[in-house]
Amino acid sequence: MTISYPSTKSIKDEIRNAIGDTATFLIRGDATACSLCSGANLYDPVNEVSLDITCSSCAGMYWLTSDISSGVVAHVRWNTQDVPNRGVGGANFDGDATITIDINAISSENIVKIKEVYVDSRKLEVYRVVYKGHPRDRIRFQCKEYNKQ
Ligand SMILES: [Zn+2]
Repeated sequence: MTISYPSTKSIKDEIRNAIGDTATFLIRGDATACSLCSGANLYDPVNEVSLDITCSSCAGMYWLTSDISSGVVAHVRWNTQDVPNRGVGGANFDGDATITIDINAISSENIVKIKEVYVDSRKLEVYRVVYKGHPRDRIRFQCKEYNKQ
């Protein structure tokens, strides 16, 4: 027997677009070689740094990374407190916020490169990524706020 699920992705997308907030994801960019040092052949392949620690462009780092910031419509739910979620493996803390986005909003390649997320000018750290839906149609991030008292 084949089970066919109703196609609800477009409805979920519409709801999210109507009530959603913008979450800004900071994604680690790819490393590029310092143009001054690579041009002057100053790469130290053993230590993966530049031989010129006084380089005005990279200061001896050689590899430069520029982070990408991407605004995504998201359904954001703030937890009023850290509610323990009693699961099979004991109590887990659900954290400060869950952020749900369209599965196509960020490529899976970039999901693993997320450094932090900004919502309502609050800075969040992602500590769990859960793919939701049958078939998979959205991604939920469990987040914790930085420097929370
Ligand atoms: Zn350099």
